Amino acid sequence: MSRIVIVGASLAGYSVAESLRKLGSEADIVLIGDEPETPYDRPPLSKGFLLGTVEEADTRLGDIASLGVELSLGSTATALDVSARRVQTANGETFEADQIVIATGARAVLPATFDRDLVHTLRTLEDARVLRASLARARSVLVVGAGVLGCEVAATARQLGRQVLLVDRMDGPMRAVLAPRFSAAVRDLHVGHGVDFRGGTVVTDLRRERGALKAGLSDGQWWRGDLAVVAVGSRPCVDWLAGSDLHVDDGVVCDWSGRTAATGIYAVGDVARWAGRRSEHWTAATQQAAVVAARICGLAPERRTLSLPYVWSDQYDTKIQILGDALTDDGAAKVEIVAGEVGDANFCAHIIRNGGGPGLVAFKQIRSFAQMRSKLAVA
Ligand SMILES: Cc1cc2nc3c(=O)[nH]c(=O)nc-3n(C[C@H](O)[C@H](O)[C@H](O)COP(=O)(O)OP(=O)(O)OC[C@H]3O[C@@H](n4cnc5c(N)ncnc54)[C@H](O)[C@@H]3O)c2cc1C
Repeated sequence: MSRIVIVGASLAGYSVAESLRKLGSEADIVLIGDEPETPYDRPPLSKGFLLGTVEEADTRLGDIASLGVELSLGSTATALDVSARRVQTANGETFEADQIVIATGARAVLPATFDRDLVHTLRTLEDARVLRASLARARSVLVVGAGVLGCEVAATARQLGRQVLLVDRMDGPMRAVLAPRFSAAVRDLHVGHGVDFRGGTVVTDLRRERGALKAGLSDGQWWRGDLAVVAVGSRPCVDWLAGSDLHVDDGVVCDWSGRTAATGIYAVGDVARWAGRRSEHWTAATQQAAVVAARICGLAPERRTLSLPYVWSDQYDTKIQILGDALTDDGAAKVEIVAGEVGDANFCAHIIRNGGGPGLVAFKQIRSFAQMRSKLAVA
């Protein structure tokens, strides 16, 4: 019987194990994770869990016991021997396998400007527990970084009644994924809910002074408050692969179906760079897991089972959905508003490009988005 070792016991790793069982695999599966937690889902951490409407038990991923896998939790992989297909862990264990799946995800980046003891980052359940407790005591919150995660934290803090200053070095929120007119709709959404948003602004200095936090901003202003959250991006967890000879370049380099150049070694989820692109979204992790499980089972997965990059975000009562490229605003793209109005923060927009990939953006238009998405899938 074959043995499969999956390193990283979160969404991507769990989903590979689940897909393997769905495909009828009876292999011995070992799931190694450095967190002490059974696999849990991260999206609620910046939304319902912070808000207090979702509890820890609700964040768990499926029924791990029913998968019949060996769980090695609180166990950090420290080295991979590619030719022996062997994983070593910090607690001295070694795991040999016929196939190895790398699913170690990413960790939050904290720039040197910030003292770790003064700020929060949000990646893990433990981060969320600590942030939730601090939010309960805070009145005024600074969120640094208005990407998807920073916007969600800002929205949740406002829903809890906190004063929120949201700053970003870019001119508008979510500018890494949205063209200016859609980013402006996100800004209006936040401003309409009472967030003080400042684009083109960075924090130059953050310190504790007389019991409060004090931040110097590049616009010359100062902020004083109780709590600061830094959400400026994440970095793939690849340190443990140093010396393994695997090709690592902003993630583990793979073909379109998760195969690395080393036989029997795959990568999935936030840590993986499939066909030149690393995707840090929930849907990509689960779709990639299904493809890798099929490969391991000797099946030939089809590339079309992978959708265009998709991310959703819940901010206040608004579900924001983005499919494909909604960022490039090259003037050659035609934008068709399929439903609603951008100015009302209630719309579905189809971005059509000559020779480029399509894009879809929706605010509060779940049904129109789903209809357009299935049209694009069959087109
Ligand atoms: C707060 C938050 C909210 C999000 N909300 C959304 C959303 O609304 N929509 C959306 O599309 N996406 C969202 N995402 C992104 C989505 O959750 C990720 O894309 C997804 O978690 C990726 O799964 P993964 O298993 O690849 O990586 P991860 O979830 O990062 O899991 C990797 C696991 O591997 C472990 N690990 C790392 N190194 C080692 C090692 N050396 N040895 C053993 N274990 C190791 C890590 O500790 C972790 O448990 C959110 C992410 C966060 C953090």
